[in-house]
Amino acid sequence: MYVHIPFCAARCPYCDFATAPATTRLRARYLAALAAEIGREGAALGRPRARTLFVGGGTPSLLEPDEVDALAAALRGAFAFRPLEATVEANPATLDRARLGAWKRLGITRLSLGAQSLSAEGLQALGRTHQPGDVAPAVAAARSLGLAVAIDLIFGWPGQTAELWAADLAAAQALAPDHLSCYPLELETEREEADANWPGGGWPVVARWRARAAAAVPDEDAVASLYEQAERTLRRGGFRHYEIANWARPRRRSRHNLAYWRNDEWIGLGAGAHSHLGGFRSRNPAALTAYLARAEAGLGRLAAERVDEAVDGAILALRLDEGLALDRHAARFGRVAADRARRGLRSLDGTGLVRWSGETARLTPRGRLLATEVFLRLLPD
Ligand code: SF4
Repeated sequence: MYVHIPFCAARCPYCDFATAPATTRLRARYLAALAAEIGREGAALGRPRARTLFVGGGTPSLLEPDEVDALAAALRGAFAFRPLEATVEANPATLDRARLGAWKRLGITRLSLGAQSLSAEGLQALGRTHQPGDVAPAVAAARSLGLAVAIDLIFGWPGQTAELWAADLAAAQALAPDHLSCYPLELETEREEADANWPGGGWPVVARWRARAAAAVPDEDAVASLYEQAERTLRRGGFRHYEIANWARPRRRSRHNLAYWRNDEWIGLGAGAHSHLGGFRSRNPAALTAYLARAEAGLGRLAAERVDEAVDGAILALRLDEGLALDRHAARFGRVAADRARRGLRSLDGTGLVRWSGETARLTPRGRLLATEVFLRLLPD
């Protein structure tokens, strides 16, 4: 189960998630609509058990303890709520013990910290509002409550060098997290539906920032080499790579995100959240007012763009180091789909992008850098 809390203290100029100002007068209305949606969906699905929960955003750690308690009551009322893993995303500057205590009461087992960089240069280059010194106290507070800790980093920011990246990786490892995600900076300039949530003339400012940043980021080869640097450094530090952008200590992989990559079923609740249930993809509108209008009218999710489930399943499986097992793929999507995937991947023989063990295909380290080239071969002709 995914629950989206869209509110943020400020808008980070590179971010494309469905976010909104924390002070928005729609906040109470949003939380009431979300609780109603949780109740409605739990009843419609027959009060199923959620194996994992991820509360993402936005900045869910901004919620006040009484807001977290109300969310917990809604979840417990509507679902058999005994998750094996429950994660909340946090901005390092917004955590305090009272808030963390409320999340712990909700049943959180894991804190995912959006550190992005641990240097003043990196945070400034990314337009972040927290300070490098905010991260260690947040990790310590999570640890004192027995929570697992995941840290997100971004690489390829304007002005970043191999030395600055080495310093970020070292500082992150010094915090002894259970899990690390390293994402390349992406600077989409397509205006998102969720942009409507920020008042004023926000978009031109964001678009100008992105254009300036795009002119100052390291080139593609340099970004690829930063990625390889992360692979080497984290392997030496005892982390196991398991997905293109994700590393974990043994037995600390994100069960929740594994469910996405294994193309399992999930329900997404809240603005902009996507769901995958019964082989059918659906979504909620990302614009807050559009989400509220639907949720308050008791209307369900919108059908999402149709995707070829077999192609999607193959691409997601290849993102994982465990790779695409064609026998399992055939059992799930049929022999024709498995043969099509095999043909597409075999057309890359000799390129060094894919390696085979029996009927299982995996990306090589070079294949991870050029994953889009591999995925294109899986698309129908
Ligand atoms: S705090 Fe996170 S979700 Fe909010 S705008 Fe920044 S990157 Fe996006």
